[in-house]
Amino acid sequence: MELLSRLDRQLQTLEQHSLIRQRRTVDTPCGPRVRVGGRELLAFCSNDYLGLAGHPALAEALREGASLYGAGSGASHLISGHGRAHAQLEERLAQFVGAHLESPRALTFSTGYMANLAVLTGLTAGDKDAEIFSEALNHASLIDGARLSRAKVSVYPHADLAALGALLAASTAANKVVVSDSVFSMDGDLAPLPALLALCERHGAWLVVDDAHGFGALGANGHGALEHFDLRSPYLVYMGTLGKAAGVGGAFVAAHEIVIETLIQKSRPYIFTTAAPPALAHALLTSLDLLEGAEGRARRAHLHTLVAQLDAGLALKRWRRMPSTTAIQPIVIGDSAETMNAGAALYEQGLWVGAIRPPTVPAGTARLRATLSAGHTGAEVAQLITALNALERT
Ligand SMILES: *Cc1c(COP(=O)(O)O)cnc(C)c1O
Repeated sequence: MELLSRLDRQLQTLEQHSLIRQRRTVDTPCGPRVRVGGRELLAFCSNDYLGLAGHPALAEALREGASLYGAGSGASHLISGHGRAHAQLEERLAQFVGAHLESPRALTFSTGYMANLAVLTGLTAGDKDAEIFSEALNHASLIDGARLSRAKVSVYPHADLAALGALLAASTAANKVVVSDSVFSMDGDLAPLPALLALCERHGAWLVVDDAHGFGALGANGHGALEHFDLRSPYLVYMGTLGKAAGVGGAFVAAHEIVIETLIQKSRPYIFTTAAPPALAHALLTSLDLLEGAEGRARRAHLHTLVAQLDAGLALKRWRRMPSTTAIQPIVIGDSAETMNAGAALYEQGLWVGAIRPPTVPAGTARLRATLSAGHTGAEVAQLITALNALERT
């Protein structure tokens, strides 16, 4: 069939450019040691930064949630799918990050991808006087949310406050929305959020913060990037995901109650989808307890120790380690084929490190993306350091 041949030719082009992606099927829970195809591997590629995804207390809370509420929600939130567990989770999340917002309220979503579509369309859809200012390295879901909103979109270069300031000053839009990752997923660096917020307040713009990699991992209490930078403002619209450090799945938006009510009334990605299984919301209550409690604090401290260990131990000459202080530790190799070969060589040695190519990262910056987790031991990180240092020299 000609339609299939067309698709097949496109796949072959990807193959020729070393851009075909392959999934590996994991037989064990997410953790530092996983089994794939009968082999045990030491994994440095999940976003389970605190090692909670396989935590027995979360599995138990999920079982309890299932026995309390069954399996599915059965409907969207606005019909009959909004359960007691969702309501409790919203309240807890509003408290969790509420110290940084004014009149805080939270709204949960099945995924961070959907939360980002919902925020950007909810704040701007149908508003001819809206403009979105998007950081160049933003996550794909923010790019897609901006597209879906059909608002005017201006992209500002990575961390370039002067460029953003000029764009804001030149804009005549009454509804300005600045949007940025807090921790950049492929680079691991932090956005200059205090300066960004000051700029937004000066120009009367919303600041939408995507804290997918900060929620649970940053801040003394795990409250995320707003706690880390000690920010507070009615201009802040906060998005956190619950499938990374929180170890379960889903996401939420927290902001002024009027913003949240707007999303409930107007955001199609919130309205036209089935509510997540209530058992997940129930399990997330336990996850928030872990994040805020002594265990979360100890896990974050251990994670910081591991990041410092990697920083001190890597001795790279040709490859370039990004200056990241977070759990995301990219090593830029440049060439896609060489990056894939490096990833394959590590895999042969039993080390699973993500190899990231364009279009996920800009052309010519293919990289290994090692992620550390509080579940790792110092000895395991030492193994990664030794392997990387040796591999670069071959
Ligand atoms: C993972 C991620 C998302 C999407 O969250 P999901 O819950 O996985 O859909 C959004 N933004 C950033 C920066 C992310 O890293």
